[in-house]
Amino acid sequence: MRIAMVSEHASPLAASSGLGGADAGGQNVAVRALALALADAGHEIVVHTRRADPAVPRRVAMAPGVTVDHVDAGPARELPKDDLVDHMDAFSADLAACWADETPDVVHAHFWMSGLAALPAARALRVPVVQTFHALGSVKRRHQGADDTSPARRVAVESDLGASVDRVLATCHEEVDELVALGVPAERTTVVPCGVDVAHFTPGARGTDDVFRVVSVSRLVPRKGVDTVIAALARLPRDSELVVAGGPRPERLDDDPEVARLRALARTVGVADRVHFLGAVGHDALPALYRSADAVACVPAYEPFGLVPLEAMACGRPVVAAAVGGLADTVVDGVTGHHVPAGDPGAVAAALERLRADPRAARRCGRAGRRRAETEYGWDRVAAAHERVYGEVVLGRAAVPALSTALTTGSPA
Ligand code: UDP
Repeated sequence: MRIAMVSEHASPLAASSGLGGADAGGQNVAVRALALALADAGHEIVVHTRRADPAVPRRVAMAPGVTVDHVDAGPARELPKDDLVDHMDAFSADLAACWADETPDVVHAHFWMSGLAALPAARALRVPVVQTFHALGSVKRRHQGADDTSPARRVAVESDLGASVDRVLATCHEEVDELVALGVPAERTTVVPCGVDVAHFTPGARGTDDVFRVVSVSRLVPRKGVDTVIAALARLPRDSELVVAGGPRPERLDDDPEVARLRALARTVGVADRVHFLGAVGHDALPALYRSADAVACVPAYEPFGLVPLEAMACGRPVVAAAVGGLADTVVDGVTGHHVPAGDPGAVAAALERLRADPRAARRCGRAGRRRAETEYGWDRVAAAHERVYGEVVLGRAAVPALSTALTTGSPA
């Protein structure tokens, strides 16, 4: 199949460097890995992403069978994700011209703005569209309230897209309920998780120091719950420490407001000397970081999927995870780690203490995590699940639903 992916803000080329900042994370990694795995299976992939650098060529060959197409839409520099919606008309027009020349068999849009740009362009050519939201505005608004900076029309667009595309891929079971609440017919959804590179993230020796090391890896935004882990650390014995990866480049740590907030909290609860901020860590260095951990803590307020727990599991480390979103599917409570309620430092501390007190059980959890990552979440398996859905929507092309009138990129906020 000729598969066009649209990932307006998250370039797959950024996935090997530059992750952990406010807007670069799991989507970059997932789009890259999915494209590579589909190309390995013999498909031809073009990933359309917005040009954020005037120097990059329009088309870059990322790997055999995978091309990254830099679409000119808005100024050729990094823009905050929330400002990109104004440029989706231009993005859509560019896609329409591109696909008129080279018509794909199927379009897979990642994130709501990609769907907004892709759907009109694909519909004009009767090409089916598969949508993965990666995150839903309705969930974000519920959790972030007034702090949610997403464009006001996001929720309405997601609802309309859900009703109009050929299939919505939910990355976890909880997302299906959220989609149904948005009015998306359940039968138009399919749960297809993200995956993990089990050849890159592999188990290995931990090292020999006596510290009980908890590792956190995430973009440093408040909803990721790093504050909860810091508060939990204060309830653990003093031979425990927390290593925090993510956020700005290491040399910019002192300028980062979220790092300042977390450092202040660490001082307040008396663990400043036991919390170490690394800044953004390159993907190549991450396996060693996970392996240095006795436990990986991942306790966000909400999480559409969450690649980090899977990466930790693939490295054979037990995970203390909030029982939310994708983490409720990937982490098996009592088997590959422990589930805790979101925002509950006492529960996080208790779960970490269980792992600290029983290293053999912790190692067992780690081994079970590795097995689960290998058998359920390898990218070849995840790509095959995508392939099945693409095949279904291509077959069902004759029944392509009409485009909702609300889905014109220029509709008011
Ligand atoms: N990541 C990284 N370096 C960092 C922080 C994060 O490479 O310093 C990667 C992490 O390994 C994972 C992705 O960014 O692959 C984060 O994905 P996840 O789904 O956990 O969260 P998101 O950022 O999408 O909310």
